[in-house]
Amino acid sequence: MSDIAKLLHRHQPSAQRSFQDLVHDRLPSTPVSFPQDATFDEATASWNYLAPAQPVGVVAPRSTAEVQEIIRCAREAGVTQLAIRSGGHSFEGASLGGRDGHAVVIDMVEMNDITIDRDAQTATVGGGTLTGNLMVAAFEQGGLMLPTGECIAVGMGGQIQCGGYGHYSRTYGILTDRLLRAEMVLADGSAVTVDEHTNADLFWAIRGSGTGSFGVITSLTVQLNKAPAAPANFFIKYPMTDAASFASTFKAMQEYSLTAPPAFNPMIVIWRGNLEILGSLATETAAERDALVADMREKLPPTDQFDIQPADYVETMRIQGLEDTSAPYYPDLSDVRRERREHLRYMKIKAGFVPEPFTDEFIETLAEFAITQPTEGLRIQILGLDPNSGLPAEATAIKNRDCPWLMGMSCWVPLSDAGDIATMEATGKNYEQWLNQAYEIFYPYTTGGYIGDDDYAEGDQGRDMFDSYYGRHLPQLKAVKSKYDPDNLFHHKLSIPVSDEPSAPQR
Ligand SMILES: Cc1cc2nc3c(=O)[nH]c(=O)nc-3n(C[C@H](O)[C@H](O)[C@H](O)COP(=O)(O)OP(=O)(O)OC[C@H]3O[C@@H](n4cnc5c(N)ncnc54)[C@H](O)[C@@H]3O)c2cc1C
Repeated sequence: MSDIAKLLHRHQPSAQRSFQDLVHDRLPSTPVSFPQDATFDEATASWNYLAPAQPVGVVAPRSTAEVQEIIRCAREAGVTQLAIRSGGHSFEGASLGGRDGHAVVIDMVEMNDITIDRDAQTATVGGGTLTGNLMVAAFEQGGLMLPTGECIAVGMGGQIQCGGYGHYSRTYGILTDRLLRAEMVLADGSAVTVDEHTNADLFWAIRGSGTGSFGVITSLTVQLNKAPAAPANFFIKYPMTDAASFASTFKAMQEYSLTAPPAFNPMIVIWRGNLEILGSLATETAAERDALVADMREKLPPTDQFDIQPADYVETMRIQGLEDTSAPYYPDLSDVRRERREHLRYMKIKAGFVPEPFTDEFIETLAEFAITQPTEGLRIQILGLDPNSGLPAEATAIKNRDCPWLMGMSCWVPLSDAGDIATMEATGKNYEQWLNQAYEIFYPYTTGGYIGDDDYAEGDQGRDMFDSYYGRHLPQLKAVKSKYDPDNLFHHKLSIPVSDEPSAPQR
């Protein structure tokens, strides 16, 4: 255990010690890690330098019964904060309790069974399963898929609750809309089914609230679909030379993206000195793919960097991960695992849903600024969505539907590149200034942040984080929270608060 960790854990409340005793007594073979254990640093490690957390213990249940027992022990010992961790990708470290937290972490890493029903085209997975592992199993066992984000080391448990937007979303929608049923353990230790008919209010809330506010998802069942039979990736690049050519190219990219056939899944990316449009073609035959590529060639501005890569569905996801992400990736898909500290980096994210096509005025302002972007460590990505697809706006707790674009931007500095912490931090802060300026250009055109890209800085400058992420759904989310977790056991800075209304419903 490091000196800093020792300092942080010096004043453990005695209640936590008795939690430790209770867990040791009642769950003697369950993997646990407490501050005095040699495993503790590793068990609480985060990939993000900007998300330091100070959990008081980590317990990794292997069954629903064990999750129930952990919660009973916590209640008995007077634990006041439980955090739930699956893929560990929360940018702010919410799944370790957050910066100011002192949480017992329920680490779902051991609950990762995957069962594919080929006839029903469904998958039932443990709450700690990673999206990449489900992707491979679904494809290998039945040529099936479901839309997820680009990073395949993200957890299903977290992403199902916030959206899941990626390289096939314009064609197939988003991950959250695929949830058919969840099994959950609630704050009182009860195990419940959550679907359209049973605990329907909770089913609504977990689809979009994204914050582990309501209880532990131990298992979830999702709808799959046939993977496209003849897909391809495309990578089309234009060197950023001057603002005028940036603006005209961007306008052409937008026009094509908004009107292209549904099989076209675009992302406009600004990084490494290039303005790029890249993504996947969800085409069913080689002829359909060739026709779409011909259409792209005709309608997008000419460039000598126009690369089309046909591959099977899983390979298209793997290649996008290798060539098109600021996140660490896994060249060998059998190696996908939760990140710990091996890719420690300074990483800041900002994101926003864009409800209308970008105006010429916006594009011209962006162009002037974009050409000043450093060629390393900064990326703006603008993902094309189908504003007319997906579940009805009120069917789930997702705030932002009907948007043609989801903008995300990040800066990152891997420790391995920087060499030491001080250099990493100084470089990261420098990049972050550029990032914040870029965000302010987008901000007036956005209609709220993406809770999957959790960003405490959204609360700076007097902006209301809860309005940004949850908007009109917040009163109903608070009512659901009050019903299922009235003592606010599952909490962190961006979790749904207990209702301040006196008439909050009781279970
Ligand atoms: C490098 C990177 C790339 C990303 N790329 C994309 C992308 O392409 N598209 C996209 O849509 N999003 C993307 N995201 C965002 C990601 O989808 C969200 O951060 C998501 O919430 C992460 O889920 P997780 O389980 O990995 O994270 P965790 O940190 O484990 O959990 C995130 C939140 O969900 C809760 N939670 C997790 N598991 C459970 C469970 N079993 N039961 C109840 N609550 C639970 C946690 O308590 C926490 O509040 C990316 C994030 C990163 C860091």
